[in-house]
Parts: sequence; C-alpha cells; structure tokens
Amino acid sequence: MRIKCLFSKEQISRRVKELAVQISHDYSGTNELLVLCVLNGSMFFAADLLRELHTPCQLNCIKACANESGKVELCYGADINVSGKDILLIEDIVDSGITLKSIVDIYQKQRPNSIKVCTFLDKKSRRIEDVQADYAGFEIDGKFVVGYGMDYNGKYRELPYVGYIIS
Ligand code: 5GP
Repeated sequence: MRIKCLFSKEQISRRVKELAVQISHDYSGTNELLVLCVLNGSMFFAADLLRELHTPCQLNCIKACANESGKVELCYGADINVSGKDILLIEDIVDSGITLKSIVDIYQKQRPNSIKVCTFLDKKSRRIEDVQADYAGFEIDGKFVVGYGMDYNGKYRELPYVGYIIS
C-alpha cells in the first residue's frame, strides 16, 4: 500500500509545541491536572505533548470499546478516580464524536472539577454528536488517516508522519 504524507514529522512537532504552550498557559496554577490518554491511537501524541507541557500532571491511560449493543464503554480505566480533579482527555481523532461524548459522559458522573479535550486531529465536518475539542492539532476532512499512533487494521502506527492510503 502507498501512503501519501499529510503532516510531516516536522509539522507535527511544531504543532505539538504550539499546543503545549497554549495548554500550559491555560492550566498555569493548576496542581491537580490528570491527563487521560485514550489508547491506542493517542499514545504517540500524548507522549510528545506531555514532554512539552510546563504543567505538573499525572498520567493514566484509558480505552474505549463498544459493548454487544454497540454502546461505547470503558474497557480500561473505568475505575480511575476523577472526582474534583482537572481532567485533560487526549484523543487521536474526533470523528463522529460518539466515542468522545461517551467518555466525557462516563467521567462527568464522578463530578471532576473540569474536563477538557485535546485531540490531535479533528474531523469537524463529520460530527454526529454535539461535542467539541478544546484543543486540536489539525482540522482535516473525512479521509481515513494512519501513522503517528493511528492504525489501519493494526498497521502503520509506527510511522512518524500522518498520511492517507492512496492504493
Ligand atoms: P468517533 O467515535 O469520533 O467517530 O471515532 C473516534 C475514533 O475512531 C478515533 O479515536 C479513532 O480511533 C477512530 N478513527 C476515526 N477516524 C480515523 C482515521 O481516519 N484513522 C484512524 N486510524 N482511526 C480513525
């Protein structure tokens, strides 16, 4: 398969640094920041972003999966205590928004102090649920992308750039 580059390693690195500046500024003075990295796709992004942040934080990983009736649940991380904390969810892509809405709804029940969302990619035009990311690396159209942690049938996560499959 051939993959056409959409965002190079250098473009990604520049954008991650910009996001980190913005997020560090917004959370200055916060000492209970809990970052939740949504596995598997956002692990590269979260790892890069956190190393650029100037905000002390704790990190946990969570994983969303669909149950038998298609409802999104947490198959990993449902037991994390978010009560009273400032939560920053790190996503790879917000597409329809169904996954993100479900995750936010689950954690809201525990009454965190705040929940914000930072997504690497935002497919805004494909939204079904009324959810927005507070921070987004890049807005893209509906193309299916791979690389920088994102896969196609388990492949291409290791690519240092983001691209889409052209053949
Ligand atoms: P949503 O629930 O917002 O429709 O879907 C979000 C999830 O679908 C993302 O976290 C990601 O795992 C997956 N996804 C959506 N679009 C893409 C894409 O273009 N490439 C890859 N690899 N995964 C995608």
